[in-house]
Amino acid sequence: MEKTLPKSVFQKFRQQQRGRTSLDRATADAIAHAVRVWAMDHGATHYTHWFQPQTDTTAEKHDAFLDIKSSIINGIKTTVAIDSFSGSQLLQAEPDASSFPHGGIRSTFEARGYTVWDTTSPLFIQDGPHGTAVLYIPCVFISYNGEALDEKTVLLRSNEAISNAAVRLLHMIGDTEVRNVHTTLGVEQEFFLIDRGLYSLRPDLKICGRTLVGSIPPKHQQLEDHYFGQIPSRVLATIAETEIELYKLGVPMKTRHNEVAPAQFEMAPIFEESAVAVDHNLLTMQILHRVAHRHKLKCLFHEKPFKGINGSGKHCNWSICTDAGENLLDPSVKPESNPRFLLFFVATVYAVYKHGTLLRAGIATASNEHRLGANEAPPGIISVFLGDQLNEVLNAVEEQRELKSFSQHQIQSVKVGGTVLDLKVATLPPISRDLTDRNRTSPFAFTGNKFEFRAVGSKQSPSFPVTLLNAAVTEALLEITSVLEEVKGDKPKASLEDVLTVVRMYIKKSKPIRFEGDNYSQEWVEEAGRRGIENITSCPEAFKKLLEHQNLLTETVPILTMAELHCRYQVMVERYIKDLVIEGNTLKTLINQYVLPAAFDYRKEIASTLVSLKNVGMDINNIPEKMILEELGKDTDELIKLNDKLCEILERVVKITDLDQAALVAHNEIFTIMEDIRKYTDSIETKVSSKCWLLPSYSELLF
Ligand code: ADP
Ligand code: MG
Repeated sequence: MEKTLPKSVFQKFRQQQRGRTSLDRATADAIAHAVRVWAMDHGATHYTHWFQPQTDTTAEKHDAFLDIKSSIINGIKTTVAIDSFSGSQLLQAEPDASSFPHGGIRSTFEARGYTVWDTTSPLFIQDGPHGTAVLYIPCVFISYNGEALDEKTVLLRSNEAISNAAVRLLHMIGDTEVRNVHTTLGVEQEFFLIDRGLYSLRPDLKICGRTLVGSIPPKHQQLEDHYFGQIPSRVLATIAETEIELYKLGVPMKTRHNEVAPAQFEMAPIFEESAVAVDHNLLTMQILHRVAHRHKLKCLFHEKPFKGINGSGKHCNWSICTDAGENLLDPSVKPESNPRFLLFFVATVYAVYKHGTLLRAGIATASNEHRLGANEAPPGIISVFLGDQLNEVLNAVEEQRELKSFSQHQIQSVKVGGTVLDLKVATLPPISRDLTDRNRTSPFAFTGNKFEFRAVGSKQSPSFPVTLLNAAVTEALLEITSVLEEVKGDKPKASLEDVLTVVRMYIKKSKPIRFEGDNYSQEWVEEAGRRGIENITSCPEAFKKLLEHQNLLTETVPILTMAELHCRYQVMVERYIKDLVIEGNTLKTLINQYVLPAAFDYRKEIASTLVSLKNVGMDINNIPEKMILEELGKDTDELIKLNDKLCEILERVVKITDLDQAALVAHNEIFTIMEDIRKYTDSIETKVSSKCWLLPSYSELLF
């Protein structure tokens, strides 16, 4: 834009981007013209307002740059096709909003919604068919009355809130040159890639994104030989092509590797400003999905596609950065006397202490429930991991003593990122050690110069989880600022001593949320209980927490109106119920069309074997075939009973009009009975001949 726009227009655009002015008509038209010329030079025939409804994905409606113009030339009416794109078309569009989730915020007859250009996120062009392309305009999506219907509006509001709060605090400690701050986000995306032919033979994967039946093969991830192993060639081809497609869109992909489970992988970009990083994560998922298709693979983003095997997460690496590019969570050489670091670090820990259950609400989905409730990464208890050295820093500050573990030698080498380790091999160079070790079990870990929110679902948009984190930290900053203001008195700026006094108070307050041990252990569940930290294992429980924090979200850090908050709650609960009902119905079909017929076929086969054996005079009473037949009989009887019960629950749940009640039934009954049913379907799978079992097995899907 700087290259193509007249200087004055570009300056006005930059002013608008920083929230200082709005675009006047002439400026908008000038920008639209330049944008169209650029896009058409790259083959674009259409443009689209691209936005993020509350569906964890994006929405777009294409319009051509085409217009028709009639004029009278020498008395003859002439009609010509022209290219056109006005400033108002760039800035705003009006899609029919009635079919997007709105949580009852408006009735269906008030269908109007508006998309408005979010100038903070770059425009991009995606290839279309036959050498054409489409111009994408990142947008927010609001209702006729200006209520947020999307994921982005609230994220932007939370970014602004945290910026204002952080700047106030920074000014109080004398950092008066900072004018705004932004949150940064680097999203590690985990996913499975499986053969598309096999995938298409599994109705459960196609409809629900996860397997509802399937016995676990003898070997899966026990040997841990897949993690960081050589990337299989078809997968590498897919990922590499995805990266190239993403580079074209400006998404800075950086890392790729095998994950723990067989057929599981991860990609991660270089971090960016959080709203842009969210756009880019959604694009990453879409492009990966599309490119995998070309390589005859299917990409599964579900949190738990395979029972008994590690699930996928989305690790949201998060920090706060000033307009001068300084990371406020960088501990620097002497974190213990770095007021900036201490304040922002402790504010984040305190935010999680105070609003951990809110963070838990933001990651509650039917699919993530399989990870968060189960004995697997991470648990339903939100705690913070700091690592040895930062724990020691906080303890030393709290106890007003010198740091224990930093020898002079160590302090020197912290400058290059940590302490020095001696490998006792002369040919290897000395290596520096990071300030924190890793704790893979923690849902919220400090990793050197950023926090890593690990409990976010692989399938969900990172937007709302980050929004809630921003809101929680904003409140902590506001509170800390007002306490610091008092402690500082009428001095022009707070001294290091003032800061330490306040930081000490908040270290003490937030102590219960700090946990360095194994988050998967039963001891932690008990210990957390003693500390008063909630263990939220079900979605209906988690959703409620959103409403319990309404003061924070609608008043202290007003990023939602009360109506918007209730809308969000309703969308989440409705989605949960629908997801479980769809799963229940899919399982019912699988049982009727695949599992029972397999059992019956095999039974018939054994029965006729038995008849033949009997006919040749064998005693068939104690032979293995007979036993299998009997066991299969027991399994099918139980399965039929449970299936009938499932059908009954499914019929009942859709009739319940009270949403909260329906969600409870979905969780307590559908979720539970599906687990019970699985015992019998999987038992049948291991008994019948593979000839009778038409669903591709776990071994076939994963290896
Ligand atoms: P890990 O070793 O935790 O798996 P990765 O290299 O896979 O780490 O991913 C770490 C992610 O954290 C990357 O996306 C990286 O860009 C991001 N990151 C690094 N520093 C910051 C920061 N200051 N703010 C936000 N994200 C960051
Ligand atoms: Mg990683």
